[in-house]
Amino acid sequence: MVLERNTPPVFSLEFFPPKTQEGVDKLIRVQRALQCLQPAFYSVTFGACGSTREGTLDTVLGMKRDGLNATPHLSCIGATKAQIHDIIDHYRAHDIHHLVALRGDLPSGTLDSGAFRYAAELVAFIREVSGDWFHIDVAAYPEVHPQASSAEDDIRRFKRKMDAGANSAITQYFYNADAYWYFVDACTALGVSAPIVPGIMPIMSFSRLARFSEMCGAEIPRWIRRRMESYGDDLASVRAFGLDIVTDLCARLLERGAPGLHFYTLNQSELTLEICRRLGIGEKNEAG
Ligand SMILES: Cc1cc2nc3c(=O)[nH]c(=O)nc-3n(C[C@H](O)[C@H](O)[C@H](O)COP(=O)(O)OP(=O)(O)OC[C@H]3O[C@@H](n4cnc5c(N)ncnc54)[C@H](O)[C@@H]3O)c2cc1C
Repeated sequence: MVLERNTPPVFSLEFFPPKTQEGVDKLIRVQRALQCLQPAFYSVTFGACGSTREGTLDTVLGMKRDGLNATPHLSCIGATKAQIHDIIDHYRAHDIHHLVALRGDLPSGTLDSGAFRYAAELVAFIREVSGDWFHIDVAAYPEVHPQASSAEDDIRRFKRKMDAGANSAITQYFYNADAYWYFVDACTALGVSAPIVPGIMPIMSFSRLARFSEMCGAEIPRWIRRRMESYGDDLASVRAFGLDIVTDLCARLLERGAPGLHFYTLNQSELTLEICRRLGIGEKNEAG
């Protein structure tokens, strides 16, 4: 699949591999509920949230059996070349043509980064062993990756990742559209013309979001934080305000020409469906 700017926006949905049979059953229900959005692909995380390599493989193959365009994430930190090669061959054998290639994060206390230190090396390796078989997405950080030595260096490293053979990118979530456009403009100035799709995080629980944002370096603007804090345990107000600001963010991104939206669903359908309903995404599919 080739994504180009100036084409209709591409919508995609991200899940994590469930760890229990109950989680598997729930994920199937969630995917069925979200199918009306007709996403371009359904991505499945790798090694995040305590998930395992087998969890990603099983989830992706299960989706594929259900006729969905499943796209595995592949993170390389701590792995050997043989292990990564094995996974790539496995996906090729199952006719999977799209990957999200990542470095990942070493679990605390682990020192050996394995054969690949950065995602750019993984992208180059995938191209070396599988040519053009895969469409490769990589991660982008409009608000700067937490370990970057500087914002400028982060953008240069991002460009290297694209130059190594990535086709497009998906961003870390953000609530400040200016950060995204500034990042896109800086990449364009460096000659990166591939689509950089905004990652969208619907707001389910503010305390969870705040904790996670701290870790991954996503900023929650003060005005959003203060309002959310004032709602306390009033979950209905958190939900209503979260829906308003995330829908507004998506609408403004699309209006200004973002190449698509990638929703971090956290294996839930309700908020993503409601945001898409308000944006008119999937309307035609429901009607027809
Ligand atoms: C869309 C998306 C999906 C994700 N999915 C997953 C997932 O499924 N599983 C998971 O575990 N994690 C996932 N993550 C999180 C990701 O693994 C972490 O953010 C990780 O810390 C960085 O991964 P990366 O691929 O961006 O790394 P890289 O692109 O390698 O960058 C990591 C850091 O190293 C710096 N850097 C890059 N190259 C060099 C170099 N040569 N020398 C010095 N510094 C360098 C960069 O500036 C950056 O600070 C995802 C993130 C996003 C945005």
